Amino acid sequence: NKINEDDEIKEIQSKYDSIVPSNVKCFDDLPLSYKTKKALKECNYKTPTDIQRESIGYALQGRDVLGAAVTGSGKTLAFLVPVLEKLYTQKWSRMDGTGAIIISPTRELAYQIFETLRKVGAKHDFSAGLIIGGKNLKFERGRMDQCNIMICTPGRLLQHMDENPLFNATSMQILVLDEADRCLDMGFEQTMNAIIENLPPERQTLLFSATQTKSVKDLARLSLDNPVYVAPHEQQ
Ligand code: ADP
Ligand code: MG
Repeated sequence: NKINEDDEIKEIQSKYDSIVPSNVKCFDDLPLSYKTKKALKECNYKTPTDIQRESIGYALQGRDVLGAAVTGSGKTLAFLVPVLEKLYTQKWSRMDGTGAIIISPTRELAYQIFETLRKVGAKHDFSAGLIIGGKNLKFERGRMDQCNIMICTPGRLLQHMDENPLFNATSMQILVLDEADRCLDMGFEQTMNAIIENLPPERQTLLFSATQTKSVKDLARLSLDNPVYVAPHEQQ
């Protein structure tokens, strides 16, 4: 039973503005594409965690999000679901190049995000790549233009931006800064600033951090446009 994608996209987009986070009890309560919902089910993800419930709606609405949540709170899906939905509703195809860039502080964390994306993105037809260093630079370089969703470490991403003529993010739609506080602690502040300055300003940005330090606030100011602050575990 083939779903008409245009109708589906119109229908889910028409529901974005009426999302009320406190009413979201399960992923099915969110207006998500059939492909994302099906993969979430197959992975046995039924109930969103607090950070997912609080942030996904705003992200779907196109808002920039500043998310504060500790390790283990489920931040990966809080950004991967909106990334998939953004590209799907834009009818992004393999030919359209880089649509999303996800920055993670370490290779191991980047790899974990990649593995989760392979599962929750399994029904979609996007290409994904790891740009994390420690691998053959030439191999990475030649495939960059074919990668819809890039999961990167900061240093390696900036290296491609500076040196690789095939790197082209001029039409990218969404940037994710995961574990921003750790990126900054590891000395990537200048690198992150340079990356952000190289990306198109009309993009959407989701920034997640366990702590809200002065340097995270500086990065947020530089990278986010009128963000919603989402901190489900904070004492009000
Ligand atoms: P964080 O990035 O905040 O440290 P992760 O995204 O790595 O957290 O998720 C931590 C664990 O919780 C993972 O094992 C993940 O599979 C699981 N998880 C995430 N979201 C859900 C959910 N909605 N339902 C059940 N398990 C989840
Ligand atoms: Mg994480």
